Amino acid sequence: MAKMFIAGEGADSVTGQTYEVRNPATGEVVDTVPKGNEQDVRSAVDAAQAAFDEWSHTPAEERARLLFKAAALVDAERKNLAELLCREQGKPVQEAAGEMEHFHHGIEFYAGLASKVRGSQVPLPAKNAYGMVIRKPLGVCGAIVPWNFPITLMGTKVGPALAAGNTIVVKPASTTPLTTIRVIELMNQAGLPKGVLSVVTGPGGVVGEELLQNPKVRRIAFTGESATGKHVASVACGDFKRVTLELGGSDPMIVCDDADVQKAVTGAMVGRFWNAGLACLAVKRLFVFDKVYDEFVGSLVSKVARYEVGDGMTRPEKPKIRMGPLHTAAQRDEIEDQVKDAIDRGAKVLLGGARPEGDQYARGNFYLPTILENVAEDSRAVTEETFGPLLPVFRVTSLDEAIEKANRSIYGLGSSIWTKNLDNIETAVDRIEAGNVWVNSLHYGYDELPFGGVKASGFGREHGPEALEYYLEPKGVVITR
Ligand code: NAD
Repeated sequence: MAKMFIAGEGADSVTGQTYEVRNPATGEVVDTVPKGNEQDVRSAVDAAQAAFDEWSHTPAEERARLLFKAAALVDAERKNLAELLCREQGKPVQEAAGEMEHFHHGIEFYAGLASKVRGSQVPLPAKNAYGMVIRKPLGVCGAIVPWNFPITLMGTKVGPALAAGNTIVVKPASTTPLTTIRVIELMNQAGLPKGVLSVVTGPGGVVGEELLQNPKVRRIAFTGESATGKHVASVACGDFKRVTLELGGSDPMIVCDDADVQKAVTGAMVGRFWNAGLACLAVKRLFVFDKVYDEFVGSLVSKVARYEVGDGMTRPEKPKIRMGPLHTAAQRDEIEDQVKDAIDRGAKVLLGGARPEGDQYARGNFYLPTILENVAEDSRAVTEETFGPLLPVFRVTSLDEAIEKANRSIYGLGSSIWTKNLDNIETAVDRIEAGNVWVNSLHYGYDELPFGGVKASGFGREHGPEALEYYLEPKGVVITR
């Protein structure tokens, strides 16, 4: 049985209760974990508060050294961790290895920034006086993480928090705690002082809720659904905690008539069906110019047909590529309902639109990669986030039309435009309502660039040096000689 990691050691829940983590591809139990409660969170938060003074006053270079070492210890176990992540989350093991690599890169990125935090000196109108802006860590942070990228999305919080001198308690999604526990255990082995980095497992409504309500927690970094994010903001802001919200998305991808069609087809395929479509920044609405529509959609359908759904631990014969199951049965039900709703409103199924048939699929949450056209604007597949392997494709006649439709969503996370025309690029970059625009590029969250949303996709940014700002508070100082 896995244990939580609190105050520098493995821990069961005070209640002794546990629950099972199951493989979404097979239904088998991967392991059991403690079902933590409020008291377990309080222990972790108290330990984090006790550790804060030492950690925030540890020289930044030493914090950096420990973070580099922590990243290396995790990386040395990449293969085992990728297999564990595959078994608890469902994603193909190669994708899981990619996630571990991204985590390693992200922690190293923030380790490098730990000693680069700067303040400023400011001239003042008062005689013999000057001002300074120094930047202080906030204290105990809470990281609430979803199940689609459990490790990278934990890293985007833990990296900047620790680099800036904060301490942090991580709450993984209930269904993906195992790899997180092992990663946090390994990071502690690098020599982090006790209590600097802990993990508490258990239900969001109990463990997550205590992080939101505990007055010793001064900062919440949340990634998850917009509906949960609304609740997180209302509770945490009531206590004046600093909050960032990385929420849902319905990213538009616009393919103009001068685009490199084959590159754009690959961008749409990987951008939508990576991780079985369980990505906030996935391509969720595809707008293709009339002139290239038939060529583009024909090629997309034939390429996406190469996906073979199955257990992420196995590999199909080339040229087939593996797509894993959806992470939960509820998530598959939702995609099924969204497809049915679209068909009822007149959509045409170009590919998929059903569960795969066969005994080998009986115990997993599998769904075929699905492409729809003629999807009505008021369909759930357009108005809601589609979190799974479902792509609606729309024919458009101009960039104005594409941008106007792209902006009709309540979301504003990512977006992309595929064109060689500089005017088109500038217009899209300027006018698409989103936190990120990729130009002729795959939807991907680079550690080097700020990432986050506008509208119902949340506020605040992760990634980039910008993320550090959310873990530091500027302090104004006046010095009179
Ligand atoms: P979710 O909102 O259901 O859960 C996210 C986390 O919140 C989990 O750890 C959960 O246990 C916890 N939680 C649930 N109730 C809580 C409560 N009352 N108090 C505190 N914590 C609580 O999200 P999910 O289904 O795990 O993840 C999928 C969603 O996340 C999608 O909408 C996706 O677009 C979004 N997402 C956004 C980004 C981004 O960077 N913008 C990245 C990945 C995923």
